[in-house]
Amino acid sequence: MEALPFNRVEIDIAALQDNFKSIQLTVGQQVRVMAVVKSDAYGHGLVACAQAIYQAGGRTFGVAEVWEGVALRRSGLQGEIVVLLGGSPESYDEIIKHKLTPVVYDVEFITGLSNAAAGKNTEVRVHLKVDVGMGRLGVLPAEVESYVSLIRRLPGISLSGLLSHFPVADEIGSSEKTQDQLSYFRSVLARLETKEAGSVVAHIANSAALLYFPDTRLDMIRPGISLYGYYPDASPARAKTAAPTLKLQPVMSFKTRVVQIKELGAGCGISYGHTFVTRRKSRIAVLPVGYADGYLRKLSNRAEVLIGGRRAPVCGRVCMNATMVDITELPPAHTGDEVVLLGRQGDAVITADEIAKWMDTISYEVLCLFGTFNERVYI
Ligand SMILES: *Cc1c(COP(=O)(O)O)cnc(C)c1O
Repeated sequence: MEALPFNRVEIDIAALQDNFKSIQLTVGQQVRVMAVVKSDAYGHGLVACAQAIYQAGGRTFGVAEVWEGVALRRSGLQGEIVVLLGGSPESYDEIIKHKLTPVVYDVEFITGLSNAAAGKNTEVRVHLKVDVGMGRLGVLPAEVESYVSLIRRLPGISLSGLLSHFPVADEIGSSEKTQDQLSYFRSVLARLETKEAGSVVAHIANSAALLYFPDTRLDMIRPGISLYGYYPDASPARAKTAAPTLKLQPVMSFKTRVVQIKELGAGCGISYGHTFVTRRKSRIAVLPVGYADGYLRKLSNRAEVLIGGRRAPVCGRVCMNATMVDITELPPAHTGDEVVLLGRQGDAVITADEIAKWMDTISYEVLCLFGTFNERVYI
């Protein structure tokens, strides 16, 4: 018999598909949904998630880099694949061969790609990125017209999209900034419209914008975190106004099991540094999970886990491959019992938002970490 890892990340494919469908239903059929599957689908698995979303009706996918788009094509995925970070001169051939749609923001890349595609008698679609205040990728609004006319002039490439990105759409109290940036983007589009006659797809909304600012949806939205069941600022209540019908369910769970249970008296130090000392007769369960599995050391003496549908606090430092939890107040547990680090067990649930708080970060990082470091099982 093959020895299986103690720890596993479970991906609920039906939940992912339901989230996609609920998002599409919320925005209506006239708005395209680009499923953002970059970074291994936020730790959920690039190919499996993209294929599942395709089955649920998704036809547009967003990846960060060219190699991810190539991996999707090699898996047989159809539809449009937008490469959000664009490419480099070494990737022209793969962009052309795999019919990827790069985001562009650089004259040299644009001319090089045009040459490569024209040389092969083909045409590559590109989306031009405008920076309306993110301070990240993109050409400045004043440069848009010259970029657009360059792309129009060159053979082998055609402009099929214009996009931007919001920096603070998830922050309560920054809605004025988001509205200003939307107006700015709209004014860029308006200047273009006469020449382009609406042939470009305009998109700017990430999950936060789609959930909290419905007028940002334009022709297409780019949800990432919401596909995986989370609200960007951990507040479903805030989405009730703009997206009352939306229903999101977490897609990832992270599970391990008890490898040892020990009975200790009062005054026993637990784990490196003895940062936890038992104050009473205690039962401590040893779990075979640690920071090498993405269960960060920051969770020491802070996190909780589920055993038998009840919460147990982590006691002492999280080690590389081991974590101890105090189960003194829980009903008897046994070696081999399932432990849920993220997800549901009985009526109890631990969300990525809760873990993110313990880790001083956001759910995105928790999902990427757990998904990257552990064996994934699709259910
Ligand atoms: C990652 C990303 C998204 C998705 O953002 P979420 O907050 O996860 O919805 C959208 N657009 C771009 C350009 C991105 O890089």
